[in-house]
Amino acid sequence: MSLRGAERVRVVNRSGRALSEVYFRLYPSAGRLYGPARMELGRVTDDWGRPLDWAEGADASVVRVALPDAWRPGEALMLYLEWRADIPVEGERPWTREQGYGIFRQAKGLTLLAEWFPMLAVYEGEGWRLDAVPDWGDPVYSEIAFYEVWFTAPEGYTVIATGSEVASQASAHGVTHAFLSGPARDFFVALSPSLKVASARVGDISLRSYAYPEHGAAGAEALAAGKDALGVFNARFGPYLYRELDIVEAPLIGLLGMEYPGVVLVSDALHTPAEKWRLDVTTAHEIAHQWWYGVVGNDILREPWLDEALATFSSGVYVQDIMGGEAFRSQYAQWMERYETGQRNGTVGAVTWPVGRFRSSWDYVTTVYYKGAIALQTLRAEIGDDAFFRALRRYYERSRFQVARGQGLLDLLEEEAGRDLDAFFRQWFFSE
Ligand SMILES: [Zn+2]
Repeated sequence: MSLRGAERVRVVNRSGRALSEVYFRLYPSAGRLYGPARMELGRVTDDWGRPLDWAEGADASVVRVALPDAWRPGEALMLYLEWRADIPVEGERPWTREQGYGIFRQAKGLTLLAEWFPMLAVYEGEGWRLDAVPDWGDPVYSEIAFYEVWFTAPEGYTVIATGSEVASQASAHGVTHAFLSGPARDFFVALSPSLKVASARVGDISLRSYAYPEHGAAGAEALAAGKDALGVFNARFGPYLYRELDIVEAPLIGLLGMEYPGVVLVSDALHTPAEKWRLDVTTAHEIAHQWWYGVVGNDILREPWLDEALATFSSGVYVQDIMGGEAFRSQYAQWMERYETGQRNGTVGAVTWPVGRFRSSWDYVTTVYYKGAIALQTLRAEIGDDAFFRALRRYYERSRFQVARGQGLLDLLEEEAGRDLDAFFRQWFFSE
């Protein structure tokens, strides 16, 4: 199965210096957690149609485009790129956890297309961020952009995507769906001829849950959890800023869920009555990422705790506010059990470590998700709900559409607490 695409990118040079090159990431070509996918860049031109030279970087996911003229500070650059990609199909070759999360492939009647287009790399500080894709955690560090997407799929397919579908038209090639996003860090697409949808409204927000036809009850459960989570997070952190949110049952590998702007994936393994608890909590965790990662961005490679600890903590806020104190105590006990197991094994790091410093996915999750959530919950108890949630609301308001820094959040918490928390931060966030 394959994909062909063309994109026009407009970007302003905000680096403060003249640049002679621009970098794109073709993430699915990185292998690792993307599996055996392959993306190939074709023609690249400037706004005048002049062909530009490009070359692959050290990592197959990195492409450097040479600019013929200096790109001056404050100046807008328009580039046109064409590309194609092979979408691996499950069944055509064996698939194991070593072959990635399954986020760029066709399997079980669903095609997941994570990072299916060349994405502009982030320029910051002294240069372009061209980090290798890690073996675990989230791979994509990107900035906010507005997307206008025309996606042509075979007739009879539902196209689930970031943003809102504003038009569709049939042609000889299939059906072209037009989407507009608000400010978004990525544009995710999934397509399927078979998933069934259930929908609900939360205020102005249209919430949808897509599930396999035989998992209708679990799809309805995910929808109910999503509705509750949206309500809790709107009230606790500040309003969700988009019109739509989609929850999608997906055959993920080695993952319970994955977040994209406006779309969250929840593992098909959780879409059974026996997994109701983990389905609810995972749905809430992934939806919390719309606040922590989506609206408030962070450097997911160097400060992964800033979205993962907050999303895990937020799933606890959802449990406590919706299911009550007893349910939350049992969730907290699960966090503690995992953390204490890690402590006994001597594999717990510091919450604020970068993803690359952990020796395994297990250590990373134990530290960043669970110890991180325990740290935030302990701090909440220490400084009180009023100060704690005031700080989070200010963080959400102040950092929206930006890339936040961990120290900025800690400073806000300290400010709202009205006292010095250095010793607490050292113990819970900066120490092993
Ligand atoms: Zn997460």
